[in-house]
Amino acid sequence: MHDPDYSFAEYAFDTRAIYAGQRPDPTTGALMKPIYQTSTFEQSSPGEHTGFEYSRSQNPTRMALEDCIASLEGADFGTAFGSGCAATTTVLHLLEAGDKVVSSDDIYGGTRRLFVQVMEQMGLEFEFVDMTDLEAVDEAVDDQTTMLWVESPTNPLLKIYDIEAVCEIGHASDALVAVDNTFMSPYFQQPLDLGADLVVHSTTKFINGHSDVVGGAVATNDASLAEQLFFLQNSIGAVPGPMDAFLVLRGIKTLGLRMRKHASNAQAVAEYLQGHGKVDRVLFPGLESHPQYEVGQKQMSGPGGVVTFYIDGGLEASRRLLETVEVFSLAESLGGVESLIEHPAIMTHASVPPDKRAELGITDGLVRISVGVEHEKDLLEDLEKALARV
Ligand SMILES: *Cc1c(COP(=O)(O)O)cnc(C)c1O
Repeated sequence: MHDPDYSFAEYAFDTRAIYAGQRPDPTTGALMKPIYQTSTFEQSSPGEHTGFEYSRSQNPTRMALEDCIASLEGADFGTAFGSGCAATTTVLHLLEAGDKVVSSDDIYGGTRRLFVQVMEQMGLEFEFVDMTDLEAVDEAVDDQTTMLWVESPTNPLLKIYDIEAVCEIGHASDALVAVDNTFMSPYFQQPLDLGADLVVHSTTKFINGHSDVVGGAVATNDASLAEQLFFLQNSIGAVPGPMDAFLVLRGIKTLGLRMRKHASNAQAVAEYLQGHGKVDRVLFPGLESHPQYEVGQKQMSGPGGVVTFYIDGGLEASRRLLETVEVFSLAESLGGVESLIEHPAIMTHASVPPDKRAELGITDGLVRISVGVEHEKDLLEDLEKALARV
């Protein structure tokens, strides 16, 4: 059962990360939530059951995870999914054919692909705007608009949007506002407090944090939206398995610890790169040179762990750097304890059309780093050695 008593609402984030949703097992006292690796549950008489019937509908391990994520987002309701894309897909099913979604322009490549190549075919309409321009957001929202989709900071350019202002614009037209909070995790940003109706996560990233699970989640404070989400979660069936739910629950216990270290390492990396002669420009929410630094200070309690920069010399230079680093792994994804480096134009954002990439600034010299929790010195030395060979 989803149990509000176990939200531990009165405790601080780090404490909730360890306990929320996880009461000790009543039969054995097991401290860790067991992995209920079962598809079905015995009933004592037809229709008489413990509250658990079938694992697509309810699974105790998954529900512990859902309650924990809800608690961390300051939400009353949480739902977990098999991936971030599954979470996004389920949220979009709150809408109907003919509805329009106004979305931020610089979004996760897979989200854009889902919007344009899948959901448009099913009758939803999407308009992409640069949400740093609030007038443009206001103009894009029309009578048909039923949802605003916001990713902040954005991927890969780390643009920061004023979530509170965007929510005001959306709500003035009775549109829902959904915020993809993957890059900040609930530790650094809580969109529901800023006015959002729904917060969406790829738990694959910082929330799990160990690069061993693909998962997603959605949280909300609105009981009627939550009811629809539970209905859609069960109807569409894009749920995570119990083992994955267990792993994410375990990862979450150190979310606060990890985010603090991700952020301090990332700050050091960003400052180092900013002073390097072969680097053109560094984008990082923790640098005062960030174009939306003030907005970030207002709505985020830390800068996160992703650093993006433009290297001099385009593709040849970025390729050389990515092939030369040793501590950093050349791989897609982000938010794990290990540092990753990648080339958005060739890797994560290859599904964005080339003209669109050029318009957004995703050029051949653009490199994205997910800074892990290794020792800062090893990361800086690795970058120094690799940049020397560029
Ligand atoms: C990875 C990611 C997603 C998609 O999540 P998956 O778990 O890979 O399906 C969505 N949004 C953002 C910001 C992401 O980084």
